Amino acid sequence: MLDKIFSIDPRLMQIARQAEADCAEPFARIAQIAEYNEAKVLKAFADQRIGESHLLGTTGYGYGDRGRDALDAVFAQVFEAEDALVRHHFVSGTHALSVALFGVLRPGDTLLSLTGTPYDTLEETIGLRGQGNGSLRDFGIHYTEIPLTPEGGFNLAAIREQAATAKVAYIQRSRGYSLRPSLSVDTISQAIQAVRSVNPEAIVMVDNCYGEFAEDREPLAVGADLIVGSLIKNPGGGIAQTGGYIAGKARLVELCAYRLTAVGMGKEVGCSLNQNRQMYMGFFHAPSVVGNALKISVFASRMFSLLGYRAYPAYDEKRTDIITAICLEKPEALIAFCQGIQKGSPIDSFVAPEPWDMPGYDSQVIMAAGAFTMGASIELSADAPLRDPYAVWMQGGLTYTSGKLGVLQAAQNLLEQGLLSI
Ligand SMILES: *Cc1c(COP(=O)(O)O)cnc(C)c1O
Repeated sequence: MLDKIFSIDPRLMQIARQAEADCAEPFARIAQIAEYNEAKVLKAFADQRIGESHLLGTTGYGYGDRGRDALDAVFAQVFEAEDALVRHHFVSGTHALSVALFGVLRPGDTLLSLTGTPYDTLEETIGLRGQGNGSLRDFGIHYTEIPLTPEGGFNLAAIREQAATAKVAYIQRSRGYSLRPSLSVDTISQAIQAVRSVNPEAIVMVDNCYGEFAEDREPLAVGADLIVGSLIKNPGGGIAQTGGYIAGKARLVELCAYRLTAVGMGKEVGCSLNQNRQMYMGFFHAPSVVGNALKISVFASRMFSLLGYRAYPAYDEKRTDIITAICLEKPEALIAFCQGIQKGSPIDSFVAPEPWDMPGYDSQVIMAAGAFTMGASIELSADAPLRDPYAVWMQGGLTYTSGKLGVLQAAQNLLEQGLLSI
């Protein structure tokens, strides 16, 4: 029926029905995880005695902001952390990661990435590109990385050889702009054990972007010391308007707070303005919204594999983040896909995204995001650097039906432009 409203080709609808039927089992698993995580969140709200006054904001210095402090406690409880720093003052996930790295690393220390080169936007923070900008490298912090194995797993032998001298062992849970698999909490646990076997003191930091609530526990549950993420992704539930979080060992969170505000002030300052209500509501909705995003992602993977494309992960693989990557093989197909996703968005459906030189990325990037919150990728979005194999990374969607319609319009757009034959 919805195909009539949006003029989707009947052959695509037929394939979509097949895809949905194939996804029954993964959908059921996702529903179970969402239910469990929602219960955890609800319990944390009750245990922390969240009341109406917590939803109100403060101005100025923000001393004694009860809503802010209790929100930290809610995040900490749900993520099994000693403490958390949940702030709208983080301008993005990259900022939160940068604060965490500068917060705990000191001159002469070594940052060791266990998952190869980190997410594109961190390259300048670390100092892999650019010089004299105040990167970690400019401050005398050494950087080394251990690539993942060709199968996309941790190289445990290399970790045991190299982790002894690392101050921070860094793990990126999600695939980012690569085709490697995302790393499950179970797999991350093995890497942490390998680090601990040679260096019990190392700080294990996980870039948790896109991973929150995809499984029934977060990396802190298996021994990570810090996790970091963005509030315009999973844990903001599509309602938080900006921000990020850092959670983990209390002493480390304190050091990060010193870096975010000022040494000696840390978590005591930073007014919440009128953001508490959205951050609470967003976190409350997050498990269910992430469940929808996971279903959309699984559906897209199945739909596009039935259409003949390589899609990662496969629809029936276990998920640890909300991303599906689809290899579209040609730049025109990549652009058509993104423009189709945009057409299926609630906001700015009438614009056509084009590739551009985005700050922090070293190739041109195209992004489709017709979102209520600008750039929020917990809302349906697709982005891709224009480079071989012209893969698109798509994620998000606040409701299953709207996300499915976005995916269908992406396919429809390919069909209409003669880039897809069925
Ligand atoms: C989104 C993301 C980041 C941070 O990106 P921002 O756009 O700065 O929020 C970092 N790492 C990964 C894996 C991400 O997905």
